[in-house]
Amino acid sequence: MNKEYALVTGASRGIGRAIAERLAKDGYTVLINYNSNTAAAEATKSAIESAGGKAELLPFNVCDGKAIESALRGWEAAHEGAQISVLVNNAGIRKDGLMVFMTEEDWHSVLQTSTEAFYYITHHVLGGMLRARHGRIVNVTSISGVIGMPGQANYSAAKAALIGATKALSKEIASRKVTVNAVAPGFICTDMTADLDEEALRKTIPAGRFGRPEEVAALVSFLCSEEAGYITGQVINIAGGMG
Ligand code: NAP
Repeated sequence: MNKEYALVTGASRGIGRAIAERLAKDGYTVLINYNSNTAAAEATKSAIESAGGKAELLPFNVCDGKAIESALRGWEAAHEGAQISVLVNNAGIRKDGLMVFMTEEDWHSVLQTSTEAFYYITHHVLGGMLRARHGRIVNVTSISGVIGMPGQANYSAAKAALIGATKALSKEIASRKVTVNAVAPGFICTDMTADLDEEALRKTIPAGRFGRPEEVAALVSFLCSEEAGYITGQVINIAGGMG
């Protein structure tokens, strides 16, 4: 397997950071994408390097098609012949609210951060994977996109869209040995869930606790491994029994 570069979006913090650290341990040079938090992205890079791994920062706003093209083209020009063999579409935001009160901005921004990002980034790196006849794409969706959560019509729609795209794309490219899967976390301890009432929500989780980013990262690592070559088009819940 060509273990060159793994691009992880939203890798400055939370689940993306844990995935970046884990894939670096697996032998990939990790491209740490983030939007604006350079200090956090630098901290991810330092953690990877301290553990003996390799990483580079690759900032861009995943909603901005032009910025994505420019960043990826610039990176390719500086790394002639290099291959991104793993793409983890992880960056995401939530802006919860009941549908009757939901603003257009809260609807579009949450949808865009999942779906535009999936289109622009996947579209860009897919050609190289197909030519190499090897690649792994993992989309970080959510249990909210699988079962629907009240107060999250925007977020559930965004994550369900990623699930549809995962299934469709997997069927297009399976014969080229490129797999596409989705992981659907439940409540995971990160900045995104820091404002939630963990004590109350624990009662709704069969496992009785929030998950850890490292647990999601271990699943992503497996899906990116050679052993997982026959798994494609799947959505794997990692939600302590929810769903
Ligand atoms: P988080 O702690 O809030 O971190 C979000 C990450 O995404 C940061 O690295 C952030 O970069 C990046 N990001 C946000 N918008 C971006 C944009 N427009 N362009 C580029 N990067 C952007 O979130 P998390 O909890 O780790 O969540 C990661 C993924 O897992 C998301 O897709 C989320 O929906 C999903 N998920 C999370 C949970 C959970 O319970 N935490 C559950 C299910 C699914 P900056 O640091 O630059 O802001």
